[in-house]
Amino acid sequence: MAVDFSNAVTTDEGVQVNGVVMHQIVEQCEGCERIKEFEGAKYCGTYPQPAAKWRLGICNFSTHTKTAPGKGKAKVNPLKASKRAAKGR
Ligand code: SF4
Repeated sequence: MAVDFSNAVTTDEGVQVNGVVMHQIVEQCEGCERIKEFEGAKYCGTYPQPAAKWRLGICNFSTHTKTAPGKGKAKVNPLKASKRAAKGR
């Protein structure tokens, strides 16, 4: 769900879009294509609280990080691995 900044309003609590307070992006967001600028500050166009998206690891909405699963790790077939282990006994 994209945040529509044409509905953004500045309130005492900060910038709000449809009643949701928007938090500015965090350092890790730099380079992400979802960043939107509003009144000189940068926000995420997808998620109101970018810091929360990064708290548990890489933001799953980010466009600038490589998150291809299994990269650098050889896939192990558990069945074959156990047969191999059994043979070695
Ligand atoms: S999608 Fe994730 S990385 Fe990109 S701006 Fe939003 S919170 Fe930051």
